[in-house]
Amino acid sequence: MADRCRSPDNRVLALKVMADLSQISLLGLDRAELASLVDNLGEPAYRARQFVEAVYRQRVESIEEISTLSQQLRLTLAEKGVSIGLPRIEKRFVSQDGTVRYLIAFADGQSVETVWMPEGDGGEAGDGSEAGELAERFAESVGPSNSSANALPENKAPNAALKRCATQNQRQDQKPKQGQNQGRSTICISSQVGCAVDCRFCLTALLGVKRNLTAGEIVGQVCAVLKDQKVSPPEDRINLVFMGMGEPFLNYDNFVKAARLLVEEVGIAERRMTVSTAGIVPRIYDFGGQAIRPKLAISLNASNDALRTRLMPLNRKWNLEMLMAAARAYPLRTREWITFEYVLLGGVNDGPENAKEVTELLRGMRCKVNLIALNPGPGIEFTTPDADRVAIFQKILREAGVPAFVRRPRGRDIYAACGQLKRTVEVATAPAP
Ligand code: SAH
Repeated sequence: MADRCRSPDNRVLALKVMADLSQISLLGLDRAELASLVDNLGEPAYRARQFVEAVYRQRVESIEEISTLSQQLRLTLAEKGVSIGLPRIEKRFVSQDGTVRYLIAFADGQSVETVWMPEGDGGEAGDGSEAGELAERFAESVGPSNSSANALPENKAPNAALKRCATQNQRQDQKPKQGQNQGRSTICISSQVGCAVDCRFCLTALLGVKRNLTAGEIVGQVCAVLKDQKVSPPEDRINLVFMGMGEPFLNYDNFVKAARLLVEEVGIAERRMTVSTAGIVPRIYDFGGQAIRPKLAISLNASNDALRTRLMPLNRKWNLEMLMAAARAYPLRTREWITFEYVLLGGVNDGPENAKEVTELLRGMRCKVNLIALNPGPGIEFTTPDADRVAIFQKILREAGVPAFVRRPRGRDIYAACGQLKRTVEVATAPAP
């Protein structure tokens, strides 16, 4: 599929004709667009590099702070109304487990939630968590992937890797010692204000979708959190998951541009980023063709069409056959695999028969499964399954040769866990200073 890296809002073109620059936020502009802005201002070309450095590396909040620019240029930019566009942290909620849920506001007053997890999200390969690292080592142990198809040889049981994985849940329960978290943090970012997908178990769905975020607003969440946490990639190892509010593949161009800026300018490695989609099939094909792309996770959440349609109405449009065909055609890179997420809902999709159906769906694929016991919330009709049901589900997958990990919930007490993002300001937790 073609690379769809086009400028989402045609800013390059707009800049050339725009006498009034007051709509321009520097955050979200790439090098070409910044070069065009500099040209438009009649400034030398090297200014574009200075803007990149100030906006994406120093993460300045105002034009005034860009000390490499002359005072005159700063004044001109201020007069013309050019802004940085760094979003504002409106509130912080701090969990007992160290997770921080940020309420982040944009210029128009809309806001989203962004989550900082100081020791990984407990399950995404490449997120720096133990589960992720085990998963990465497992990928190495089964060798390089076939670049055109993500198939594993039938019955190639990844025994050694699975034995190592078997210790994972036990180790995750241990509390990290102080200072041990350094270098394995994960930021979970939002791609839309609200969400249109309407998954029955997800709190964000209750909001509906308000609007797409711009590329600058997506990158801006990361910059704001990095600044607040006083960390800086690549020196600090930061992992990123596009798993917050919204469906990234329904805001595809802005998401792709943001991922590119995060890699090229902010300095977060591609292999440390994962995007999760509810299953927007045409975009899965497109995404496989992107030159710069995070790893792919697909929210499976059900083992057959009837169940999936009930839980995720989008399955009517893109059913399991279409979804699995796209996943099987996805061009995996060396040591890459697809992650399937499966939210376990007590008595609904968590039975042994469901686990067996999942193994059938995933047969022969280069993939792993992240099991997430439901994070409950007001207005959600489902219940969290017992730990032993989760364990049986996981065992069935593993015995069929499908690497399966149980994701540890993060920040449930502050409504920061998967599916709990809904701007729950009213939750009875005191914002941190
Ligand atoms: N829209 C994207 C990304 C956001 S959701 C997607 O659907 O993939 C990120 C993950 O959280 C998804 O796998 C989703 O299935 C899961 N999730 C949603 N609600 C949840 C809940 N209440 N408890 C646990 N996981 C949930």
